[in-house]
Amino acid sequence: MKKIAILGSTGSIGTQTLEIVRDNPDLQVVGLAAGANIDLLEKQVREFRPRLVSLQSEADCRKLKTRLADLEVQVIPGMEGLLGIAEMEESEILVTAIVGMIGIRPTIAAINRHKDIALANKETLVTAGHIIMPLAAEMGVSILPVDSEHSAIFQSLQGEHRDRVSKLLITASGGPFRGRSRQDLDNVELEDALKHPNWSMGHKITIDSATLVNKGLEVMEAKWLFDVDLDRIQVVVHPQSIIHSMVEYVDGGIIAQLGTPDMKLPIQYALFYPDRRPMAGKRVDFFELGNITFEKPDVETFAGLKLAMRAAAEGGSVPTVFNAANEKAVNLFLNRRIRFLQIPEMIEMCMDAHRKIENPGVEEILKTEQETYELIRSKFNII
Ligand code: NDP
Repeated sequence: MKKIAILGSTGSIGTQTLEIVRDNPDLQVVGLAAGANIDLLEKQVREFRPRLVSLQSEADCRKLKTRLADLEVQVIPGMEGLLGIAEMEESEILVTAIVGMIGIRPTIAAINRHKDIALANKETLVTAGHIIMPLAAEMGVSILPVDSEHSAIFQSLQGEHRDRVSKLLITASGGPFRGRSRQDLDNVELEDALKHPNWSMGHKITIDSATLVNKGLEVMEAKWLFDVDLDRIQVVVHPQSIIHSMVEYVDGGIIAQLGTPDMKLPIQYALFYPDRRPMAGKRVDFFELGNITFEKPDVETFAGLKLAMRAAAEGGSVPTVFNAANEKAVNLFLNRRIRFLQIPEMIEMCMDAHRKIENPGVEEILKTEQETYELIRSKFNII
């Protein structure tokens, strides 16, 4: 029996992780954390019977406790709950499927308790990769990527020597606005941005895919996960999303991982690594597919990717500013308060205004996040 805990169990990755648990009776859920979706968390507790759960607010936790009075389950609110779940004695692997920099502290706590990490939460490595990766190495903990691109790279690295890697090729669908000009993007609607051509994901990451910010975050994550310099990471637009990413080796050979776009495969791979478990679902039919294509990313139109590369190159606290500004801007866009093209504008303004901290600790990262939010609030006179 493998015991797992999930942060962000009510979200897109969290619910798909639970589908895998449903299909694999040798997985046992011991802890679940969610933000505010009390109804779904209640259902999940009734089905999976974790010992410890958490919601963001105390009031919601009290409500949940009352609803679950017939069960033996502990309910702890906020960061205390997240940390409690991350550190649970009985859990072996923590799935970090929570959204935002709030994932950093629980991830560090779990690593310190020698739990392996199935990492979906991008913000953790983007902002604190310089803390997380050395700590994981010190504690002998595996950071197993859940993101499909990083999982593809991870799978393509199996059995190979890391020092023989020449470059990482991260594929990108190009999002719903691939091929459009800046002028076209000026007045796109929220509904259009939410229509991802291939993947079904949470709203935040779907918008990040439309701006190509998501690809930029993935480049930053890949740099930390695989210890590869930025100039050896290339983004390749591949609209069919069949090749999930590739590794080129020093002899020119390229190893890729292919599959239908379904997050359950990388989630399951992370949970059972190095095993591969059977999984039902659609298979790639090459005859039906016909052809697959590749393009250069248009970083002038999709400035989000260009800014991400700048943030990654500058390093230190700059990726935190990039990420926090993007988070706030996407939130405003989702609430129809700003236009699509204002997302990269806000990011750039915040990056320009920031004075870089070279090697930020967790407190400095979280402070930088708050300062970035504050800057957006004051400059744009919103929220
Ligand atoms: P969702 O928005 O679908 O889900 C986020 C989860 O986090 C929900 O369970 C939400 O709870 C919970 N949550 C949010 N804020 C808090 C909080 N303050 N305290 C506790 N829980 C909180 O996101 P996704 O599943 O799409 O993404 C999760 C992470 O994985 C992100 O970092 C994303 O970038 C990354 N990722 C996602 C992929 C995908 O396919 N979706 C692919 C690769 C990476 P509630 O809903 O109850 O409020």
